[in-house]
Amino acid sequence: MIQENLDRILASLAKEAKASERPVDSVQLVAVSKTKPMSAILEAHAAGQLDFGENRVQELTEKHPQLPAARWHMIGRLQRNKVKYIAPFIHLIHSVDSERLLKEINKEAEKAGRRINCLLQIDISHEDQKAGLEEAEASSILENRSAFPHINFKGLMGMASFTEDTSVVQSQFAQLSAVFKRFQAFELEGFTELSMGMSGDYPIAIAEGATLVRIGSAIFGHR
Ligand SMILES: *Cc1c(COP(=O)(O)O)cnc(C)c1O
Repeated sequence: MIQENLDRILASLAKEAKASERPVDSVQLVAVSKTKPMSAILEAHAAGQLDFGENRVQELTEKHPQLPAARWHMIGRLQRNKVKYIAPFIHLIHSVDSERLLKEINKEAEKAGRRINCLLQIDISHEDQKAGLEEAEASSILENRSAFPHINFKGLMGMASFTEDTSVVQSQFAQLSAVFKRFQAFELEGFTELSMGMSGDYPIAIAEGATLVRIGSAIFGHR
């Protein structure tokens, strides 16, 4: 079942990319495995899936040693006091939502003797529970990037509102894509990733330029 779901999603990502006149391999899949057992993750990995997303530090630290060959992504809100637990192995942190958090990641990356790949999360839904940076805050972090020598700034991440109204979702993804384009003016090497789109809205995200989609339930079933 997981293998069939993966095949179907991967075909769909290629089709949506093609429909937007982008290369068929321009969208990468992060399989969101939060709350799912290791058996499901191993099955997906055996089917060729390399990238897995989790939203809790504890799950990451439990699952990573059971499959160190995979690339583990942190996609959920990250508390500063927990950065140290994932710093040695995390492949990409999608959810950098403050400069204080970034400072902590930089510090723990140095301790771990590596650079950590990060995306700046931008608040595009403007819901009550604010998730992410304003464009101006993100811009000032990038201007000040020399203060973070152990961070690889890889791009941006955003989450659209939970709504059936696809025009709202489309306009929020378009906004994020526009911020991403404006930030190309910093000419940062490797600043190439735009993480947006989940099971319910990834075709819209791809049409608006997503390079990474974070898909859980369409692969592993409902949580
Ligand atoms: C859970 C989650 C996803 C995946 O959601 P699905 O609807 O299961 O595809 C993507 N991004 C984030 C940040 C999540 O927390």
